[in-house]
Amino acid sequence: MVDENYDVIIIGSGPGGSSTATLLQKRGVKCLLLEKNNKVGGKMASVDTNGYGYDLFPHGQVPMIGSAFEPIFEELGVRDEFVPALLPDDPRKVITLCYRRGDKKEYKKVVQTQAMADPQPFFDLWDLEEDEKAASVKIMTEMITMTDEQIHDYDEMTMQEWLAERDCPSALYNYMGFHANASLAEPIDLVAASEQILIMKHMMLQGGGGQYKGGFGTLSNVMCREFEKNGGTLIKNCKVDKINIVDGTVTGVDTPQGTFNAPVVVSSAGLQPTILKLCGKDHFDKKYVNYIRSLVPGWAFTSVTYFLSEPVMDTGMYVMYSDDSWLDTPRYESVKDGNIPDEVILFMVNHNFYDEDAAPGGQQVLVSGTVCSADPEAKEIEDLWKVMDKQMVDQFPEIMKVCERQEYMGPKDIANLTRDSVIKGHGGECVGLAQIVGQCGRHKPSSDAPINGLYIAGADAGSKGMGTHQSALSGTGVARMVQNYLRCRARIR
Ligand SMILES: Cc1cc2nc3c(=O)[nH]c(=O)nc-3n(C[C@H](O)[C@H](O)[C@H](O)COP(=O)(O)OP(=O)(O)OC[C@H]3O[C@@H](n4cnc5c(N)ncnc54)[C@H](O)[C@@H]3O)c2cc1C
Repeated sequence: MVDENYDVIIIGSGPGGSSTATLLQKRGVKCLLLEKNNKVGGKMASVDTNGYGYDLFPHGQVPMIGSAFEPIFEELGVRDEFVPALLPDDPRKVITLCYRRGDKKEYKKVVQTQAMADPQPFFDLWDLEEDEKAASVKIMTEMITMTDEQIHDYDEMTMQEWLAERDCPSALYNYMGFHANASLAEPIDLVAASEQILIMKHMMLQGGGGQYKGGFGTLSNVMCREFEKNGGTLIKNCKVDKINIVDGTVTGVDTPQGTFNAPVVVSSAGLQPTILKLCGKDHFDKKYVNYIRSLVPGWAFTSVTYFLSEPVMDTGMYVMYSDDSWLDTPRYESVKDGNIPDEVILFMVNHNFYDEDAAPGGQQVLVSGTVCSADPEAKEIEDLWKVMDKQMVDQFPEIMKVCERQEYMGPKDIANLTRDSVIKGHGGECVGLAQIVGQCGRHKPSSDAPINGLYIAGADAGSKGMGTHQSALSGTGVARMVQNYLRCRARIR
């Protein structure tokens, strides 16, 4: 196997890498997919063990209709296996929204059928006056009626700036602050308005909070299974140490298992780790290296998974925030300085709602998370777990009464599972590079790296939207680019 030559080597089997690999292989391109872990899926990997099937980290699919995975499954001929465990018109109560206004002591809870489809639950939650309702509807309508081109007009503006130009009720502003944290792992004062508006539009028109039976990891499992079925070679537990480059052209990769050769390498190991570590900065001009170094990573999520002896939660998702708990840059800096807040935002997925087999013998598994720094060495993570647990005891005492054990994860675990920390404080990113002004839309890093035959797939390059969706879109785009490159190369030779 080591002596074999491939057309393309793909590094990493998260949504970016597995979508590129499986599409190329299906189209007759001979591929090798290398994954450093013993399981595929990257950040969207699911646990499938001892009768449990749940995501390692809390995930929700946005958009639910028109997700980037759908055409991939279609092309692979396994459309029937693309089975979202929730449809946008599901009549059940799907989401529990918990919110505390700044001037109130108690959280208020409402349940709703589907995210954003109907504003009334939000109006009930926020206690809006009639004029505030009208102002909120006006802003939301503006967001969902914009064309993609109009949305890109706001690439250079933060969401905070965009809202400041409108008559935005404070309850809606606070919700958007929470939403920037929960859906993009960014602060409202940095996130690009174009990116947040696009995601709001997706949620409102195409549905938000989708899940899959067995968890999101099922998607990578199917894409990798089809990859192998179509003749692709997948090697797990194989960490790429180096991308080999000769005279400005890719020749293959070095791994502990040997050297593999190919004229094309697609990396989903993260843009910064790929350029600065796997390739090495000496292959690029100084300006590009400085640009890569200057890119800002997104924030992370710490997560707590609760294993319950009996089912007590009945909606699929729980979101909790207050006017004081979502983080903008000053609040985030304060947490980093060790000022641990009394309350945090929470986003929790109840896997049993989507999948009766999520936990064995009538048990329940809940995956909960809150936003935090991406620094694998961040000191505040353990304290944030304590706040998360306390908030659960206060707000959902029924959970803690039957909770048999908890599992805690943070940016260190995300970095170990996915990308190397090549710049101090980076590595544990939730999505990838931050979706902030200067790094989105027209300014999104390109998937086509300035080395012949080197491409970047995944959340860091070439696409837009929410994490898994944009990663699969990026992978789809890279598959097309690679085919063009190989065709041109064949013509020249
Ligand atoms: C806590 C949390 C919550 C999230 N919530 C959501 C959500 O609700 N909705 C949503 O859409 N997205 C969500 N995301 C984001 C989403 O999971 C990511 O944006 C997406 O998985 C990124 O895909 P990727 O292919 O770019 O990278 P990754 O998923 O990071 O995959 C990269 C792969 O490359 C492998 N790799 C890295 N280096 C090497 C190497 N040197 N050699 C071999 N293999 C290597 C890694 O092991 C990994 O498998 C969440 C993520 C986290 C962590």
